[in-house]
Amino acid sequence: MTDSDALDDDAGLDPAAAFSLLGEATRLEIVTALNGLRAGTSMAFSDLYDQVDVADSAQFNYHLDRLVPHFVEKGEGGYALTQRGSRIARAVTAGSYTESPAREPFETAGECYACGEAGLVARYEDEQFVVDCPDCGEVVLRLGVPPTVVRDRDGVDLVRAVDRWARAGVSQATDGVCPSCGGRMNAALSEDAPESGTFDVVGRFECGVCGRSAVVGVTTVASQHPVVRTFHRRRGAPIDDRPYWEYSQHVAHEHVDVASGDRVRVSFFEDGDACHATLDDDLDVVEVEVVPGGAPAEQ
Ligand SMILES: [Zn+2]
Ligand SMILES: [Zn+2]
Repeated sequence: MTDSDALDDDAGLDPAAAFSLLGEATRLEIVTALNGLRAGTSMAFSDLYDQVDVADSAQFNYHLDRLVPHFVEKGEGGYALTQRGSRIARAVTAGSYTESPAREPFETAGECYACGEAGLVARYEDEQFVVDCPDCGEVVLRLGVPPTVVRDRDGVDLVRAVDRWARAGVSQATDGVCPSCGGRMNAALSEDAPESGTFDVVGRFECGVCGRSAVVGVTTVASQHPVVRTFHRRRGAPIDDRPYWEYSQHVAHEHVDVASGDRVRVSFFEDGDACHATLDDDLDVVEVEVVPGGAPAEQ
């Protein structure tokens, strides 16, 4: 397929054609330069030319023409990105931080859900954010986190960003919206939990558009429900007031009951009371019950 074949197709751009159109350094430079523009403004030809490292104006013209109309539009004042061009530019910018930053182990707040000791240690390597308990050796958390979340952040700031980023993703996924592309996400209760030997059952989300998938603890899924959130808030322990892995009931699995067929019941205990949420095999919360005084005696 040639460039002009791709440009003739107004209904949409074949991904291979899009890659071939953009797989050239000068064109990416043009897209990146235009990405700095404020919405609704455009850049004069001469300014754009100055920002791009190219041998001569004939070559520059050639590449600029290839980007119009799919990625770049020409108005009276000059050039600007189309919606599609903006999307590509943002992806290129985020993806250009390809160096994988590492963070040496540092002490972080919270207590280990397994042994109850404080002194948890967080680190980031190979695009994984890991929280370990040095006391008992338990891996409290292991989460795939893109380098863009870690870049320019350290310590408490980094921990907070990882928590917020993860929560936002879970919140969107449980609403059926893919955090990567906005496509429809399918949710299912799954017994297959390769990442962890401790969970019998997990929530599995998969995007039907971009294929992104995520495995999320059923307790975390249940904790999105408004009644569960209110249960915690009214007892002075709002779910959002600390990173979710500091909340032992979200990480441990002892209060998940999978006995009832293709349903699962998750229990939360706070201040002597119990809140039971039942999820069906599509991860929808089908029943929530608050039982005053329902917590086990040792809670
Ligand atoms: Zn421990
Ligand atoms: Zn998606």
